[in-house]
Amino acid sequence: MSKVQETVLEIDLNALTHNFEYLKSKLNSKTKFLAVVKAFAYGSDSIEIAKHLQNLNVDYFAVAYTHEGVVLRDAGITTPILVLHPQEVNFTTIIEHCLEPSLYSPRILNAFIKIANEKKQKNYPVHIKFNTGLNRLGFKQSDIDFIISKLKSTTAIIAKSLFSHLAASEDENEKEFTLKQIKDFKKIADDFETEIAYKPWLHLSNTSGVINYPEAHLDMVRCGIGLYGFGNSAKENQNLKPIAALKSVISQIHQIEKGETVGYNRAYIADNFEKTATIPIGHADGISRQFGNEKGFIFINGQKAPIIGNVCMDMIMANVTNIDCKEGDEVVIFDGKHKASNLAASSNTISYEILTAISKRVKRVIFK
Ligand SMILES: *Cc1c(COP(=O)(O)O)cnc(C)c1O
Repeated sequence: MSKVQETVLEIDLNALTHNFEYLKSKLNSKTKFLAVVKAFAYGSDSIEIAKHLQNLNVDYFAVAYTHEGVVLRDAGITTPILVLHPQEVNFTTIIEHCLEPSLYSPRILNAFIKIANEKKQKNYPVHIKFNTGLNRLGFKQSDIDFIISKLKSTTAIIAKSLFSHLAASEDENEKEFTLKQIKDFKKIADDFETEIAYKPWLHLSNTSGVINYPEAHLDMVRCGIGLYGFGNSAKENQNLKPIAALKSVISQIHQIEKGETVGYNRAYIADNFEKTATIPIGHADGISRQFGNEKGFIFINGQKAPIIGNVCMDMIMANVTNIDCKEGDEVVIFDGKHKASNLAASSNTISYEILTAISKRVKRVIFK
């Protein structure tokens, strides 16, 4: 890839294909694949990612919020789209755009049935979410009778799937808890199926569930982070390719004397005669202030340079005293080699947060 001349997020669709095929290779041939493309496909570009995965015959998509699904429909995506976290106010839009809601509480189930009836729907597909220990969204096991009675009372909706979400599938130390979640979910599914004349699909696993718990693959898996190149462990990261590279350029180099300061609040004080590089990317682009004051780092000509002083809205400054570099040189914030997961670790966060923080202001460049 040629050197960049401004701040860009490069997205490599070949890496996406690789990750998709790798994750699929872990599955039984009957298990369906849902690609999670919420939050602009983890900060990349949800339309480009969804189009590419649709061409690869992915079975399903999921987004978090309704308007994320509308964007995909407006872009011509025809694959089914599960909306993981809709609100009552979204239900008309959901039906108008053939989006499929996750229904996670009695209040939300009642509200959706009401709107589906008003809109004269027949067997509108919905996905019933159970809470098995994350305590975030979902029905309780003891709600099954209520759900069944509601489903039996209407022809407007049909439970296309039952699902739940693992709380710690990436954590070896929480294996016992995860196995209990899997067992509880299977029990919920059994109880549900004895009460209803059809068989909803079952799904439970996110990326780490796919990797660590083959017994939890069930009818479908829901992968997000793995598609984007991260597997929540050093071992799995080797099998996946980060699809996104965040790059920029050196706008200006300053030579400063011992005792001079850099940036707002004069947060950095030079110890010696030093050389600094100013780079056009800041907290408004997704480089959190947490990365300031030498916690975070960037790479210039393959060499690591700490971010010094406070991160500004539109700029960072790096100490490049010992780096052979000049104005206009390319800067790598993260790429396939200098991984976002390493930058995340420097500041007590995770790859998910780094990727999804990259703001819309950063130009996306797609490589096919
Ligand atoms: C975000 C999300 C996923 C994807 O998780 P990854 O760890 O990124 O694979 C799956 N299911 C639900 C319910 C989610 O919210």
